[in-house]
Amino acid sequence: MDKGIFIVVSAPSGTGKSSICQRLLQVCPEIKFSISYTTRVPRPGEVDGKDYFFISREEFQERIERGEFAEWTENYGNLYGTSIKAMKDLLAKGEAVLLDIEPRGAKKIKQQFRRGIFVFVLPPSRAELLKRLEERGHETPAVIRARYAQAESELKEISWYDYVIFNDNLETAAKQLISIYIAQRCKRNHLQAKIKQFMNKK
Ligand code: 5GP
Repeated sequence: MDKGIFIVVSAPSGTGKSSICQRLLQVCPEIKFSISYTTRVPRPGEVDGKDYFFISREEFQERIERGEFAEWTENYGNLYGTSIKAMKDLLAKGEAVLLDIEPRGAKKIKQQFRRGIFVFVLPPSRAELLKRLEERGHETPAVIRARYAQAESELKEISWYDYVIFNDNLETAAKQLISIYIAQRCKRNHLQAKIKQFMNKK
């Protein structure tokens, strides 16, 4: 599994991470989004097999027992997991893969695969984060409080990420993520095969 690139993006909820990731996928359509499994119910507009694979808790447990997840975690009472097979297949094919997962899962991915680019997205300020969580509209005050508390603990994980993007402005933040990806594509060790081909041909 020495081909392919993967970018892992994490952010406290309410940071605008999904919009930034969407922009990256629009501009670089060759990137494959790693579709996680979850027991959470779909939100309006979410599509099974595109945003997530929405499955029951029972099915999730069975998949854990069969060792199908590279990592999984419980978040706000719902289970989320990354398929180890899907990841390995995409990377073996040399695909670029985007993962949108929270820091605990991201850390497990880093330990397991020993590669990848880890990007943490931050809101302009903590006050702004709370405001964005409140304005989301589809959450109850208790959920907002829980998400804010979780955000506080996730922020502590920033220390081991490679890159940080402050989402003051969606366009700028998206450009930064796109630039990180493009820079990765240009890394010498990612281009070994192409360089070899170039060197061998007059
Ligand atoms: P949401 O329910 O808002 O879509 O996602 C909640 C959180 O779960 C987000 O921080 C998202 O990045 C994270 N998440 C989504 N899929 C996975 C996954 O497969 N593994 C882990 N560890 N976190 C995930």
